[in-house]
Amino acid sequence: MKDTAKHQGLRNQLASVLQQKGITDKNVLDAIKKVPRHLFLNSSFEDYAYQDKAFPIGAGQTISQPYTVAFQSQLLEVKKDDMVLEIGTGSGYQTAVLYAMGAKVYSIERQHELFKSTSLLLPKLNIRPKLLTFGDGYKGLPNYAPFDSIIVTAGAPMIPQPLMAQLKIGGRLVIPVGGDGEPQIMTMLVRKNETQFERHEFGEFRFVPLLENKN
Ligand code: SAH
Repeated sequence: MKDTAKHQGLRNQLASVLQQKGITDKNVLDAIKKVPRHLFLNSSFEDYAYQDKAFPIGAGQTISQPYTVAFQSQLLEVKKDDMVLEIGTGSGYQTAVLYAMGAKVYSIERQHELFKSTSLLLPKLNIRPKLLTFGDGYKGLPNYAPFDSIIVTAGAPMIPQPLMAQLKIGGRLVIPVGGDGEPQIMTMLVRKNETQFERHEFGEFRFVPLLENKN
C-alpha cells in the first residue's frame, strides 16, 4: 500500500478537474487532495483511480465517481465535528472524504463482504469513523440520532422516513431519488422544524440501487 508523489500529483489534478466542473467548497477540494483513492480500488484499477469515473468494488457495487462524491459532500456543508450518517459505506472512499472534512462519521453497509473489507482497510489508512456498521440503512441509526446531516450513496425509489426522522432541525439529507435502471434526481431535504422539510433538486445522477433488507 503505497502513496507516492505521483499519486499526490494525480489527486491535485483531480481536484482541479472537479473545480472546473463546479465544485467550489475548499473543504471538499482539500479532502479530495488528501484521500488516496487508489488504495480503495482493486490494484488492477490503480492507473485509473484518479480519473473522474466510477469503478466496480466487488459484490456488484461501485465506488462513486469523484464528482458525485464531491457534489454530495458539498451539499452537506460539513462543519468540523458534525455528526454525519452515511448509508452505503461501500469502498469507504466517501467515508474517508467526510472524515478528512472533519466530520464524525457513522456509516452503514448491507453487503457483509464490503463491510468486512472496508472495516479492515480504513484503520490501516488512519481513517477513523466513529462507527462502521453492518445492517439495513433504510432504518438509519436511531440510537445515535439526531444527525447534522445524512448522505445516501445508493439510488432510492423514495426517501426513507426513518432517515428524515433522524435529522436535526436545520440538518440536511442528501439522497439520489429514483428507481433502479433509471437516472436518479439528486435531492436535498433541509429540516425546518419537527414536521416541515424544504426540498431542493439538483439534476440527474446514476447510482446502484438502495436495497431493502436482504433477509
Ligand atoms: N459510498 C460508497 C458508494 C458505494 S455504492 C463508496 O464511496 O464507495 C452504494 C453502497 O450502498 C453499496 O456498497 C451497497 O451495498 C450499499 N447499500 C445498498 N443498499 C443499502 C442499504 N439498504 N443499507 C446499507 N447499504 C446499502
